[in-house]
Amino acid sequence: MELKNGSRIGIIGGGPAGSFSAIFLLDLARQVDLDIQVDIFEPRDFTLTGPRGCNMCGGVISESLVQKMASDGIHLPDEILIDTIEAYTLHSDISSVRIDDDREEMRIACIYRGGGPTGAETQTPLPKISFDGYLLELAKTKGARHIPERARGLEWDEGFPCIHWPEDNQQRYDLVVGGLGLNSPGLKMFDGLDFGYLPPKSTKAFISELYFGDEEVERLLGHSMHVFILNIPRVKFIAITPKGPYATLIILGDGIDQALVKQVYGAPEIKKCLPQGWEIPVQTCTCQPKINIGAPVNPFTNRVVMVGDCSSSRLYKDGIGAAYRLAKSLAYTAISHGVSEEDFQRFFMPTCRSLDWDNRLGHLLFFGDALLRPYSWIQEAIITVIRQEQSDPDSPRHLSSALWDTFTGSSSYRNIFRRSLHPVVLFNLVRVLLTNLARQLLHR
Ligand SMILES: Cc1cc2nc3c(=O)[nH]c(=O)nc-3n(C[C@H](O)[C@H](O)[C@H](O)COP(=O)(O)OP(=O)(O)OC[C@H]3O[C@@H](n4cnc5c(N)ncnc54)[C@H](O)[C@@H]3O)c2cc1C
Repeated sequence: MELKNGSRIGIIGGGPAGSFSAIFLLDLARQVDLDIQVDIFEPRDFTLTGPRGCNMCGGVISESLVQKMASDGIHLPDEILIDTIEAYTLHSDISSVRIDDDREEMRIACIYRGGGPTGAETQTPLPKISFDGYLLELAKTKGARHIPERARGLEWDEGFPCIHWPEDNQQRYDLVVGGLGLNSPGLKMFDGLDFGYLPPKSTKAFISELYFGDEEVERLLGHSMHVFILNIPRVKFIAITPKGPYATLIILGDGIDQALVKQVYGAPEIKKCLPQGWEIPVQTCTCQPKINIGAPVNPFTNRVVMVGDCSSSRLYKDGIGAAYRLAKSLAYTAISHGVSEEDFQRFFMPTCRSLDWDNRLGHLLFFGDALLRPYSWIQEAIITVIRQEQSDPDSPRHLSSALWDTFTGSSSYRNIFRRSLHPVVLFNLVRVLLTNLARQLLHR
Protein backbone atom coordinates (compact mmCIF):
# COMPACT_ATOMS: atom_id res chain seq x y z
CA MET A 1 0.00 0.00 0.00
CA GLU A 2 2.29 2.76 -1.25
CA LEU A 3 1.73 6.34 -2.36
CA LYS A 4 2.19 6.92 -6.10
CA ASN A 5 2.31 9.94 -8.38
CA GLY A 6 -1.12 11.56 -8.19
CA SER A 7 -1.96 10.10 -4.76
CA ARG A 8 -4.24 12.29 -2.66
CA ILE A 9 -3.86 12.94 1.05
CA GLY A 10 -6.66 14.56 3.06
CA ILE A 11 -5.67 16.19 6.34
CA ILE A 12 -8.51 17.03 8.73
CA GLY A 13 -7.42 19.96 10.89
CA GLY A 14 -4.93 22.71 10.12
CA GLY A 15 -3.53 23.18 13.63
CA PRO A 16 0.16 22.44 14.22
CA ALA A 17 -0.26 18.66 13.76
CA GLY A 18 -2.11 19.03 10.44
CA SER A 19 0.13 21.74 9.01
CA PHE A 20 3.38 20.06 10.13
CA SER A 21 2.12 16.83 8.50
CA ALA A 22 1.42 18.64 5.22
CA ILE A 23 4.81 20.41 5.28
CA PHE A 24 6.82 17.24 5.97
CA LEU A 25 4.80 15.08 3.53
CA LEU A 26 5.29 17.59 0.71
CA ASP A 27 8.99 18.15 1.51
CA LEU A 28 9.78 14.43 1.60
CA ALA A 29 7.69 13.70 -1.51
CA ARG A 30 9.62 16.38 -3.42
CA GLN A 31 12.91 14.82 -2.33
CA VAL A 32 11.94 11.47 -3.88
CA ASP A 33 10.25 13.01 -6.94
CA LEU A 34 6.78 11.95 -5.87
CA ASP A 35 3.91 14.12 -7.02
CA ILE A 36 1.19 14.07 -4.35
CA GLN A 37 -1.85 16.27 -3.73
CA VAL A 38 -2.41 17.38 -0.11
CA ASP A 39 -5.72 18.90 1.02
CA ILE A 40 -6.02 20.52 4.46
CA PHE A 41 -9.53 20.95 5.88
CA GLU A 42 -9.46 23.85 8.33
CA PRO A 43 -12.47 26.13 8.96
CA ARG A 44 -10.73 28.50 11.42
CA ASP A 45 -9.38 31.88 10.31
CA PHE A 46 -6.15 32.29 12.31
CA THR A 47 -6.01 36.04 11.70
CA LEU A 48 -9.07 36.61 13.90
CA THR A 49 -8.79 37.53 17.59
CA GLY A 50 -10.46 35.52 20.33
CA PRO A 51 -11.76 31.95 20.15
CA ARG A 52 -12.75 32.20 16.47
CA GLY A 53 -9.10 32.31 15.46
CA CYS A 54 -7.39 30.47 18.28
CA ASN A 55 -6.51 26.89 19.14
CA MET A 56 -6.52 27.51 22.91
CA CYS A 57 -3.03 27.03 24.27
CA GLY A 58 -0.50 28.56 26.67
CA GLY A 59 1.67 29.44 23.70
CA VAL A 60 5.13 28.70 25.03
CA ILE A 61 7.58 26.90 22.81
CA SER A 62 11.09 25.90 23.73
CA GLU A 63 14.12 27.33 21.97
CA SER A 64 15.15 23.76 21.13
CA LEU A 65 11.89 23.32 19.16
CA VAL A 66 12.41 26.70 17.44
CA GLN A 67 15.86 25.48 16.38
CA LYS A 68 14.62 22.06 15.26
CA MET A 69 11.96 23.75 13.11
CA ALA A 70 14.61 26.06 11.64
CA SER A 71 16.71 23.04 10.65
CA ASP A 72 13.65 21.83 8.69
CA GLY A 73 13.33 25.19 6.94
CA ILE A 74 10.53 26.44 9.22
CA HIS A 75 11.91 29.84 10.27
CA LEU A 76 9.46 31.61 12.57
CA PRO A 77 9.32 35.32 11.65
CA ASP A 78 10.10 37.77 14.46
CA GLU A 79 6.51 39.14 14.44
CA ILE A 80 5.27 35.77 15.73
CA LEU A 81 7.45 35.80 18.84
CA ILE A 82 5.66 38.02 21.36
CA ASP A 83 8.03 37.60 24.27
CA THR A 84 11.11 35.65 25.29
CA ILE A 85 11.36 34.00 28.67
CA GLU A 86 14.81 33.96 30.20
CA ALA A 87 14.00 32.77 33.69
CA TYR A 88 11.23 31.34 35.73
CA THR A 89 10.10 32.03 39.23
CA LEU A 90 8.87 29.17 41.31
CA HIS A 91 6.30 30.11 43.93
CA SER A 92 5.23 27.77 46.68
CA ASP A 93 2.94 28.46 49.64
CA ILE A 94 5.95 29.43 51.74
CA SER A 95 8.36 31.29 49.47
CA SER A 96 9.55 31.98 45.94
CA VAL A 97 12.78 31.54 44.06
CA ARG A 98 13.86 32.87 40.68
CA ILE A 99 15.63 30.37 38.48
CA ASP A 100 17.83 31.58 35.65
CA ASP A 101 18.90 29.08 33.10
CA ASP A 102 22.02 30.18 31.33
CA ARG A 103 21.79 27.42 28.70
CA GLU A 104 20.82 29.40 25.59
CA GLU A 105 18.93 26.52 24.06
CA MET A 106 16.75 26.45 27.16
CA ARG A 107 15.13 29.84 26.58
CA ILE A 108 11.47 29.79 25.66
CA ALA A 109 9.43 31.84 23.24
CA CYS A 110 5.83 33.03 23.65
CA ILE A 111 3.45 32.99 20.72
CA TYR A 112 -0.23 33.42 19.98
CA ARG A 113 -1.98 30.61 18.14
CA GLY A 114 -4.48 33.02 16.55
CA GLY A 115 -4.78 36.79 16.12
CA GLY A 116 -4.51 37.43 19.89
CA PRO A 117 -7.01 37.63 22.77
CA THR A 118 -10.55 38.94 22.36
CA GLY A 119 -10.43 42.73 22.18
CA ALA A 120 -6.71 42.81 21.26
CA GLU A 121 -7.54 44.48 17.97
CA THR A 122 -8.59 47.63 19.84
CA GLN A 123 -5.97 47.60 22.60
CA THR A 124 -2.51 47.40 21.16
CA PRO A 125 -0.69 46.35 18.01
CA LEU A 126 -0.48 42.58 18.21
CA PRO A 127 1.16 40.26 15.69
CA LYS A 128 -0.31 40.17 12.24
CA ILE A 129 0.82 36.56 11.89
CA SER A 130 -0.14 33.87 14.32
CA PHE A 131 1.80 30.65 14.85
CA ASP A 132 -0.94 28.41 13.39
CA GLY A 133 -1.60 30.87 10.56
CA TYR A 134 2.07 30.92 9.64
CA LEU A 135 2.33 27.11 9.52
CA LEU A 136 -0.83 26.81 7.42
CA GLU A 137 0.45 29.44 4.96
CA LEU A 138 3.79 27.65 4.77
CA ALA A 139 2.03 24.38 3.95
CA LYS A 140 0.16 26.23 1.19
CA THR A 141 3.35 27.65 -0.29
CA LYS A 142 4.69 24.10 -0.44
CA GLY A 143 1.69 23.06 -2.52
CA ALA A 144 -1.05 22.08 -0.05
CA ARG A 145 -4.61 23.08 -0.92
CA HIS A 146 -6.51 24.69 1.97
CA ILE A 147 -10.20 23.84 2.04
CA PRO A 148 -11.68 26.34 4.56
CA GLU A 149 -14.43 23.95 5.63
CA ARG A 150 -15.20 21.61 8.50
CA ALA A 151 -15.02 17.92 7.51
CA ARG A 152 -18.44 16.46 8.35
CA GLY A 153 -18.17 12.74 7.73
CA LEU A 154 -15.97 9.80 6.83
CA GLU A 155 -16.74 6.50 5.17
CA TRP A 156 -14.98 3.72 3.34
CA ASP A 157 -15.24 3.64 -0.44
CA GLU A 158 -13.83 0.37 -1.82
CA GLY A 159 -11.08 0.31 0.81
CA PHE A 160 -10.27 4.03 0.51
CA PRO A 161 -11.31 6.62 3.13
CA CYS A 162 -13.66 9.26 1.80
CA ILE A 163 -14.13 12.70 3.43
CA HIS A 164 -17.48 14.51 3.26
CA TRP A 165 -17.83 18.27 3.73
CA PRO A 166 -20.68 20.79 3.37
CA GLU A 167 -22.76 21.18 0.22
CA ASP A 168 -22.54 17.48 -0.54
CA ASN A 169 -18.84 17.58 -1.36
CA GLN A 170 -16.87 14.41 -0.99
CA GLN A 171 -13.46 13.12 -1.98
CA ARG A 172 -11.79 9.73 -1.83
CA TYR A 173 -8.20 9.75 -0.50
CA ASP A 174 -5.21 7.41 -0.51
CA LEU A 175 -4.47 8.57 3.03
CA VAL A 176 -6.51 10.49 5.61
CA VAL A 177 -4.64 12.20 8.45
CA GLY A 178 -6.69 13.12 11.54
CA GLY A 179 -5.25 16.25 13.17
CA LEU A 180 -8.43 17.56 14.82
CA GLY A 181 -7.10 18.11 18.31
CA LEU A 182 -9.20 17.12 21.31
CA ASN A 183 -11.84 19.84 21.37
CA SER A 184 -13.67 18.88 18.20
CA PRO A 185 -16.96 16.98 18.09
CA GLY A 186 -15.64 15.88 14.68
CA LEU A 187 -13.63 13.13 16.39
CA LYS A 188 -16.88 11.13 16.43
CA MET A 189 -16.79 10.84 12.64
CA PHE A 190 -13.88 8.38 12.91
CA ASP A 191 -16.42 5.94 14.42
CA GLY A 192 -17.75 5.69 10.88
CA LEU A 193 -14.51 4.03 9.75
CA ASP A 194 -14.86 1.44 12.49
CA PHE A 195 -11.19 0.68 13.16
CA GLY A 196 -11.45 0.82 16.94
CA TYR A 197 -9.95 4.29 17.41
CA LEU A 198 -10.53 5.83 20.84
CA PRO A 199 -9.21 9.35 21.58
CA PRO A 200 -6.76 9.76 24.47
CA LYS A 201 -8.02 10.51 27.97
CA SER A 202 -8.28 14.24 28.56
CA THR A 203 -9.18 16.71 31.27
CA LYS A 204 -10.31 20.34 31.29
CA ALA A 205 -7.71 23.06 31.75
CA PHE A 206 -8.16 26.80 32.10
CA ILE A 207 -6.57 29.70 30.20
CA SER A 208 -7.18 33.41 30.63
CA GLU A 209 -5.49 36.31 28.85
CA LEU A 210 -5.22 39.16 31.37
CA TYR A 211 -4.66 42.66 30.01
CA PHE A 212 -2.35 44.70 32.30
CA GLY A 213 -0.51 46.82 29.69
CA ASP A 214 3.18 46.55 28.71
CA GLU A 215 4.60 48.43 31.70
CA GLU A 216 2.62 46.56 34.34
CA VAL A 217 3.47 43.19 32.79
CA GLU A 218 7.17 44.12 32.72
CA ARG A 219 7.05 45.37 36.33
CA LEU A 220 5.09 42.43 37.76
CA LEU A 221 6.47 39.54 35.75
CA GLY A 222 9.63 40.68 33.95
CA HIS A 223 10.81 38.20 31.31
CA SER A 224 10.06 35.38 33.67
CA MET A 225 7.47 32.64 33.60
CA HIS A 226 5.88 32.38 37.04
CA VAL A 227 5.06 28.85 38.11
CA PHE A 228 2.97 28.19 41.22
CA ILE A 229 2.99 24.93 43.10
CA LEU A 230 0.34 25.64 45.68
CA ASN A 231 -1.54 23.38 48.01
CA ILE A 232 -4.86 23.72 46.16
CA PRO A 233 -6.64 20.39 45.64
CA ARG A 234 -6.79 19.02 42.06
CA VAL A 235 -4.41 21.70 40.76
CA LYS A 236 -1.14 20.33 39.35
CA PHE A 237 0.36 23.71 38.68
CA ILE A 238 -0.45 27.25 37.69
CA ALA A 239 1.60 29.40 35.34
CA ILE A 240 1.52 33.09 34.53
CA THR A 241 3.46 33.99 31.40
CA PRO A 242 4.17 37.49 30.08
CA LYS A 243 3.01 38.10 26.53
CA GLY A 244 3.54 41.72 25.59
CA PRO A 245 0.75 43.72 27.28
CA TYR A 246 -0.97 40.49 28.41
CA ALA A 247 -0.29 37.93 31.08
CA THR A 248 -1.47 34.43 30.24
CA LEU A 249 -2.81 32.54 33.23
CA ILE A 250 -2.94 28.76 32.87
CA ILE A 251 -4.34 26.33 35.40
CA LEU A 252 -3.59 22.65 34.88
CA GLY A 253 -5.09 19.92 36.97
CA ASP A 254 -8.01 17.55 37.15
CA GLY A 255 -11.40 18.91 36.11
CA ILE A 256 -10.81 22.64 36.63
CA ASP A 257 -14.13 24.33 37.43
CA GLN A 258 -15.18 27.89 38.27
CA ALA A 259 -14.93 27.36 42.06
CA LEU A 260 -11.32 26.25 41.67
CA VAL A 261 -10.53 29.19 39.38
CA LYS A 262 -11.90 31.56 42.04
CA GLN A 263 -9.73 29.89 44.67
CA VAL A 264 -6.66 30.35 42.42
CA TYR A 265 -7.35 34.07 41.87
CA GLY A 266 -7.70 34.49 45.63
CA ALA A 267 -4.40 32.79 46.54
CA PRO A 268 -1.97 35.32 48.12
CA GLU A 269 0.95 34.12 45.94
CA ILE A 270 -1.08 34.70 42.76
CA LYS A 271 -2.26 38.12 43.93
CA LYS A 272 1.39 39.25 44.16
CA CYS A 273 1.65 38.82 40.38
CA LEU A 274 -1.50 40.85 39.67
CA PRO A 275 -1.73 44.67 39.80
CA GLN A 276 -2.80 45.95 43.23
CA GLY A 277 -6.56 46.04 43.66
CA TRP A 278 -7.01 44.37 40.27
CA GLU A 279 -10.46 42.85 39.70
CA ILE A 280 -11.20 40.19 37.12
CA PRO A 281 -12.83 42.09 34.23
CA VAL A 282 -16.30 40.89 33.27
CA GLN A 283 -15.12 40.01 29.78
CA THR A 284 -11.68 38.45 29.67
CA CYS A 285 -10.57 36.13 26.91
CA THR A 286 -10.97 32.87 28.77
CA CYS A 287 -11.34 29.27 27.67
CA GLN A 288 -11.43 25.78 29.11
CA PRO A 289 -9.85 23.52 26.50
CA LYS A 290 -9.25 19.81 26.93
CA ILE A 291 -5.71 18.68 27.53
CA ASN A 292 -4.29 15.29 26.57
CA ILE A 293 -3.41 13.14 29.61
CA GLY A 294 -3.39 9.67 28.10
CA ALA A 295 -2.70 7.53 25.09
CA PRO A 296 -5.14 6.82 22.23
CA VAL A 297 -6.38 3.35 21.32
CA ASN A 298 -5.70 2.18 17.74
CA PRO A 299 -4.55 5.54 16.29
CA PHE A 300 -4.19 4.11 12.77
CA THR A 301 -5.41 1.57 10.28
CA ASN A 302 -4.88 1.08 6.54
CA ARG A 303 -4.81 4.57 4.93
CA VAL A 304 -5.86 6.43 8.11
CA VAL A 305 -3.66 7.84 10.87
CA MET A 306 -4.16 10.24 13.79
CA VAL A 307 -1.57 12.88 14.78
CA GLY A 308 -1.21 15.63 17.39
CA ASP A 309 -3.45 15.95 20.43
CA CYS A 310 -5.96 13.38 19.21
CA SER A 311 -3.09 10.88 19.15
CA SER A 312 -0.08 10.79 21.49
CA SER A 313 1.19 14.02 23.02
CA ARG A 314 3.30 15.14 25.97
CA LEU A 315 1.81 15.37 29.45
CA TYR A 316 1.09 18.99 30.47
CA LYS A 317 3.73 20.52 28.19
CA ASP A 318 5.17 20.87 24.70
CA GLY A 319 2.10 19.66 22.81
CA ILE A 320 3.34 21.54 19.75
CA GLY A 321 6.70 19.76 19.96
CA ALA A 322 4.89 16.40 20.20
CA ALA A 323 2.75 17.28 17.15
CA TYR A 324 5.97 18.13 15.28
CA ARG A 325 7.53 14.73 16.16
CA LEU A 326 4.47 12.71 15.20
CA ALA A 327 3.99 14.62 11.93
CA LYS A 328 7.61 13.97 10.98
CA SER A 329 7.33 10.29 11.81
CA LEU A 330 4.07 10.00 9.85
CA ALA A 331 5.57 11.69 6.77
CA TYR A 332 8.62 9.43 6.85
CA THR A 333 6.41 6.32 7.16
CA ALA A 334 3.96 7.30 4.42
CA ILE A 335 6.53 8.47 1.86
CA SER A 336 9.37 6.01 2.52
CA HIS A 337 7.38 2.88 3.37
CA GLY A 338 3.65 3.03 2.79
CA VAL A 339 0.28 3.71 4.33
CA SER A 340 -0.82 0.28 5.50
CA GLU A 341 -1.59 -0.51 9.13
CA GLU A 342 1.56 -2.64 9.19
CA ASP A 343 3.71 0.29 7.97
CA PHE A 344 2.29 2.55 10.69
CA GLN A 345 2.80 -0.18 13.28
CA ARG A 346 6.47 -0.62 12.33
CA PHE A 347 7.57 2.94 11.65
CA PHE A 348 5.07 5.38 13.25
CA MET A 349 4.10 3.52 16.41
CA PRO A 350 7.59 3.68 18.01
CA THR A 351 7.31 7.50 18.14
CA CYS A 352 3.85 7.26 19.77
CA ARG A 353 5.14 4.66 22.19
CA SER A 354 8.13 6.74 23.24
CA LEU A 355 5.82 9.69 24.02
CA ASP A 356 3.36 7.44 25.89
CA TRP A 357 6.09 5.80 27.98
CA ASP A 358 7.63 9.11 28.85
CA ASN A 359 4.21 10.42 29.94
CA ARG A 360 3.91 7.50 32.37
CA LEU A 361 7.04 8.82 34.08
CA GLY A 362 5.45 12.28 33.98
CA HIS A 363 2.36 10.94 35.77
CA LEU A 364 4.64 9.36 38.38
CA LEU A 365 6.44 12.67 38.86
CA PHE A 366 3.18 14.57 39.37
CA PHE A 367 1.88 11.81 41.67
CA GLY A 368 5.01 12.15 43.82
CA ASP A 369 4.57 15.92 43.83
CA ALA A 370 0.93 15.60 44.99
CA LEU A 371 2.02 13.32 47.84
CA LEU A 372 4.75 15.68 49.03
CA ARG A 373 3.00 19.00 48.44
CA PRO A 374 1.14 19.23 51.79
CA TYR A 375 4.47 19.04 53.67
CA SER A 376 5.79 22.60 53.84
CA TRP A 377 9.15 21.47 55.28
CA ILE A 378 9.82 19.47 52.10
CA GLN A 379 8.87 22.44 49.90
CA GLU A 380 11.18 24.61 51.97
CA ALA A 381 14.06 22.16 51.51
CA ILE A 382 13.52 22.03 47.73
CA ILE A 383 13.52 25.82 47.48
CA THR A 384 16.65 26.07 49.65
CA VAL A 385 18.51 23.59 47.40
CA ILE A 386 17.45 25.54 44.30
CA ARG A 387 18.61 28.81 45.94
CA GLN A 388 21.98 27.23 46.72
CA GLU A 389 22.33 25.96 43.13
CA GLN A 390 21.49 29.43 41.81
CA SER A 391 23.83 31.32 44.12
CA ASP A 392 26.88 29.18 43.37
CA PRO A 393 27.98 29.59 39.72
CA ASP A 394 30.12 26.43 39.97
CA SER A 395 27.34 24.28 41.35
CA PRO A 396 25.75 21.76 38.94
CA ARG A 397 22.15 22.93 38.54
CA HIS A 398 20.49 19.51 38.47
CA LEU A 399 17.30 20.42 40.33
CA SER A 400 16.90 23.93 38.82
CA SER A 401 17.24 22.61 35.28
CA ALA A 402 14.98 19.61 35.96
CA LEU A 403 12.22 21.95 37.20
CA TRP A 404 12.74 24.31 34.26
CA ASP A 405 12.29 21.40 31.84
CA THR A 406 9.21 20.14 33.69
CA PHE A 407 7.37 23.36 32.89
CA THR A 408 8.81 24.29 29.49
CA GLY A 409 9.00 20.95 27.73
CA SER A 410 12.66 21.35 26.82
CA SER A 411 13.42 17.79 27.88
CA SER A 412 11.82 14.37 28.39
CA TYR A 413 10.38 13.26 31.75
CA ARG A 414 12.95 10.46 31.73
CA ASN A 415 15.73 13.00 31.64
CA ILE A 416 13.99 15.12 34.31
CA PHE A 417 13.65 12.06 36.56
CA ARG A 418 17.32 11.23 36.16
CA ARG A 419 18.36 14.76 37.16
CA SER A 420 15.85 15.07 40.05
CA LEU A 421 17.11 11.82 41.55
CA HIS A 422 20.77 12.63 40.97
CA PRO A 423 22.83 11.62 44.06
CA VAL A 424 24.01 15.25 44.47
CA VAL A 425 20.37 16.47 44.60
CA LEU A 426 19.35 13.76 47.07
CA PHE A 427 22.41 14.44 49.23
CA ASN A 428 21.69 18.20 49.25
CA LEU A 429 18.01 17.65 50.07
CA VAL A 430 18.81 15.34 52.98
CA ARG A 431 21.49 17.78 54.21
CA VAL A 432 19.05 20.73 54.12
CA LEU A 433 16.27 18.70 55.76
CA LEU A 434 18.57 17.62 58.61
CA THR A 435 19.93 21.16 59.06
CA ASN A 436 16.39 22.57 59.23
CA LEU A 437 15.36 19.85 61.69
CA ALA A 438 18.39 20.54 63.92
CA ARG A 439 17.62 24.28 63.83
CA GLN A 440 14.03 23.66 64.93
CA LEU A 441 15.10 21.37 67.79
CA LEU A 442 17.58 23.99 69.02
CA HIS A 443 14.89 26.67 69.04
CA ARG A 444 12.50 24.61 71.16
C1 LIG B 1 -4.29 24.84 28.83
C2 LIG B 1 -3.35 24.37 27.76
C3 LIG B 1 -2.11 24.97 27.65
C4 LIG B 1 -1.20 24.52 26.67
N1 LIG B 1 -0.01 25.13 26.59
C5 LIG B 1 0.88 24.72 25.66
C6 LIG B 1 2.13 25.37 25.53
O1 LIG B 1 2.41 26.37 26.21
N2 LIG B 1 3.02 24.89 24.62
C7 LIG B 1 2.73 23.81 23.84
O2 LIG B 1 3.59 23.38 23.05
N3 LIG B 1 1.52 23.18 23.92
C8 LIG B 1 0.61 23.61 24.81
N4 LIG B 1 -0.62 23.02 24.88
C9 LIG B 1 -0.91 21.88 23.99
C10 LIG B 1 -1.19 22.37 22.57
O3 LIG B 1 -2.20 23.33 22.58
C11 LIG B 1 -1.62 21.18 21.70
O4 LIG B 1 -0.77 20.10 21.92
C12 LIG B 1 -1.61 21.52 20.22
O5 LIG B 1 -2.52 22.53 19.95
C13 LIG B 1 -1.98 20.28 19.41
O6 LIG B 1 -2.10 20.61 18.06
P1 LIG B 1 -3.14 19.84 17.12
O7 LIG B 1 -2.89 20.35 15.76
O8 LIG B 1 -3.06 18.39 17.40
O9 LIG B 1 -4.58 20.27 17.64
P2 LIG B 1 -5.27 21.72 17.64
O10 LIG B 1 -4.28 22.78 17.90
O11 LIG B 1 -6.43 21.60 18.57
O12 LIG B 1 -5.79 21.91 16.15
C14 LIG B 1 -6.85 21.13 15.65
C15 LIG B 1 -7.41 21.84 14.42
O13 LIG B 1 -8.38 21.01 13.81
C16 LIG B 1 -9.45 21.83 13.37
N5 LIG B 1 -10.65 20.99 13.28
C17 LIG B 1 -11.34 20.44 14.30
N6 LIG B 1 -12.38 19.72 13.81
C18 LIG B 1 -12.32 19.82 12.47
C19 LIG B 1 -13.11 19.30 11.40
N7 LIG B 1 -14.17 18.53 11.64
N8 LIG B 1 -12.75 19.61 10.14
C20 LIG B 1 -11.68 20.39 9.88
N9 LIG B 1 -10.90 20.91 10.84
C21 LIG B 1 -11.22 20.62 12.12
C22 LIG B 1 -9.56 22.92 14.42
O14 LIG B 1 -10.20 24.07 13.90
C23 LIG B 1 -8.09 23.16 14.77
O15 LIG B 1 -7.53 24.19 13.99
C24 LIG B 1 -1.56 23.45 25.82
C25 LIG B 1 -2.82 22.87 25.90
C26 LIG B 1 -3.71 23.33 26.86
C27 LIG B 1 -5.07 22.71 26.92
